[in-house]
Amino acid sequence: MKQYLEINEWSIVENGFHREHNKISESVFSLGNGRFGQRANFEEDFAGETMQGNYVAGVYYPDKTRVGWWKNGYPEYFAKVLNATNWVGIKVEVEGENFDLEHCEVRDFNRELNMREGYLQRSFIAKLKSGKEIKVVAQRFCSIVNDDLGAIRYAVTPLNFSGNIKLTPYLDGDIKNQDANYDEKFWDEVNKSATKTAAYLTLKTRKTGFEVCTGMRFSVSQNGQTVAIESKPIEREKYVANEVTVQAKQGEEIVLFKYAAIVSSLNHTPQDLLAACKKALDIAERKGFQTLLQEQAAAWATKWEESDIVIEGDAAAQQAIRFNIFQLNQTYTGEDERLNIGPKGFTGEKYGGSTYWDTEAYCIPFYLATADQKVAKNLLLYRYKQLDRAIENAGKLGFKEGAALYPMVTMNGEECHNEWEITFEEIHRNGAIAFAIYDYIRYTGDEGYLTEAGAEVLTAIARFWSQRVNWSSERQKYVMLGVTGPNEYENNVNNNWYTNYIACWCMEYAAHALKYVSQQSPEKYAALTAKINFKNTELEKWSHIVGNMHYPEDKNLGIYLQQDGYLDKEQILVKDLPVSDRPLNQKWSWDRILRSCFIKQADVLQGLFCFEDKFDIETIRRNFDFYEPRTVHESSLSPCVHSVLAAKLGDEKRAYEFYLRTSRLDLDDYNNDTEDGCHTTSMAGTWMSVVQGFGGMRVRNGQLHFAPFIPGKWNSFSFKVGFRGSLLKVKSHKNGTTIQNQSDKEISLFVYEHEYTVAANSEIEVRKEDLVSSK
Ligand code: BGC
Repeated sequence: MKQYLEINEWSIVENGFHREHNKISESVFSLGNGRFGQRANFEEDFAGETMQGNYVAGVYYPDKTRVGWWKNGYPEYFAKVLNATNWVGIKVEVEGENFDLEHCEVRDFNRELNMREGYLQRSFIAKLKSGKEIKVVAQRFCSIVNDDLGAIRYAVTPLNFSGNIKLTPYLDGDIKNQDANYDEKFWDEVNKSATKTAAYLTLKTRKTGFEVCTGMRFSVSQNGQTVAIESKPIEREKYVANEVTVQAKQGEEIVLFKYAAIVSSLNHTPQDLLAACKKALDIAERKGFQTLLQEQAAAWATKWEESDIVIEGDAAAQQAIRFNIFQLNQTYTGEDERLNIGPKGFTGEKYGGSTYWDTEAYCIPFYLATADQKVAKNLLLYRYKQLDRAIENAGKLGFKEGAALYPMVTMNGEECHNEWEITFEEIHRNGAIAFAIYDYIRYTGDEGYLTEAGAEVLTAIARFWSQRVNWSSERQKYVMLGVTGPNEYENNVNNNWYTNYIACWCMEYAAHALKYVSQQSPEKYAALTAKINFKNTELEKWSHIVGNMHYPEDKNLGIYLQQDGYLDKEQILVKDLPVSDRPLNQKWSWDRILRSCFIKQADVLQGLFCFEDKFDIETIRRNFDFYEPRTVHESSLSPCVHSVLAAKLGDEKRAYEFYLRTSRLDLDDYNNDTEDGCHTTSMAGTWMSVVQGFGGMRVRNGQLHFAPFIPGKWNSFSFKVGFRGSLLKVKSHKNGTTIQNQSDKEISLFVYEHEYTVAANSEIEVRKEDLVSSK
């Protein structure tokens, strides 16, 4: 855990240059706009610790798989979002001396991610080896208004000399992924050009053939006046630049404005790319940096208006939730149904920018409540469009008759993961995809989605489960052998409780979905069953499995067992582990981890979290009290689930501790891995821990329920949710809760199990003692 960043409610601030943590800062200070994004690399050269990162959503490369011992059924490739052209680069030379912070004395260093307005700023004074001192103020952003534009204002002031300053803005496409399996480069050059005022570089990905055109234009001002510049265009392989030399006077600021446009063949034909890039740059030049920045601030103000969470009385908690919401909104906007949410967003290479179960299990609730309904629906349709591939994927493993196994990791629907214990065994992901359909319908009321696409996906998933279990004559029950649950610190176990539970739930829900379609639209039902060759005997089989499944449990302890034989393990609690052994995944051999009882992330508790209404509170409490002390939370997806459950159990202390841990995971580098990138998908879990945890929000029978409680340290907290056409602001303070209906639609809802009607554009206040006064 590191705490070098300052607490500030609207910004992430690094005061003083923490070189040793620079890769962490590059992750945390990342920028993005849903279409592209980048790590917070410096504009100028930097020889110190750094990991370059620029990513364009949806542009990936199928890197050839690298495995030790090939197993039949492994995919041929691992798709990864590519490290793309670096468009922020500006080389700076001071009287011929290259400027690089690694070789300078640095003072007054300040880096700020301004979340309210959506930009990154860095300022410092650097003393070069020659003794020359310069002051630099660099500002940049990825526009969320024109999502193919980025802009930089880079200001240099010579402090103790007058002389030549050479600035070379460039586009460098000669980039490699650090995680390339065979050290290959993935881009080929298509064309390039550099003129005196602009430069363009078009690259094409090998194998997948995506083309990305990056362009830049620039201007220079001195002492506030735009100056005519003589520039020298430079072209090299996959590289274009313009050299500009300015006669700088001591104390006078020189500013380079650099505008970049990034357009790809996802949105334009290859022939139109260059023209599209130029058009975007025309807009940037016409508006200029200041206007673009003002528009950016205004657009972020609107985003905050829709999704901000305000916590009064606890600045660390406030900063953290805003950071999580900011990163989520930077990563995915829901405007393009071909895109999804990689676990690291645009902040690093790990997890290849691909889609995981994280989207369905963690992100959907955030987008359901804070964005238009179509955003969550797009995420469901993304999987619907990949159903054929999921059926193919199951087919490769020997499943038949339209059974689907969705991939663990994917870009285009094909499985990319290749470790047998996860690829073939971590199949609970199929359950999360089914659960997301349920979650979406529960929240929106759009049951028609079952007819449109849901029932088809659910049937294919149910078919998979019905073939994946087998009848045990020994137990006289169905069992599921050789699986990995959400807790990846156990592999190849038998009867993982969570997986068995969600499998049965899927079969029941698929049966419900088919019934719904048959009742709503017999014609569509006939067409669907003909298309997928569905037989009623399948329903009987599902029902037999559901009624006869083996669920491991320990009656004495009153808990469900994570898997058969879990209690045979030596039972040690995390609190008794030496601190120096943590995180286990960096300190222990894999063998030792597998044999231990330690749990990476919620597993049985993941099931109780999803299906809480099926269990009484004491059962949830017993399982929580048993499993949490054995959980090391070494997946970022773990603390949020625990925070929501602890809140439900009324355990304020633990709910708050887990909240801080999930929300400040990257800011404080809890798991010692933020340098690889931020844990973007778990940030949606952080949102859940406030809204579902402290706010107690649930949807039951088509209505919203709230049961807020405030951690002792907070004076109040408030959040906004959209629900079936109403927009609500829920604010809880020490004495009660106010619910403001900011829409024109009346809504009835429950607070602490009492029903209230909130008229359009009005509010109610529910006091602790349950007094209601309509205003
Ligand atoms: C977790 C998985 C998760 C993946 C990507 C892993 O560490 O165990 O549950 O899907 O990270 O976030």
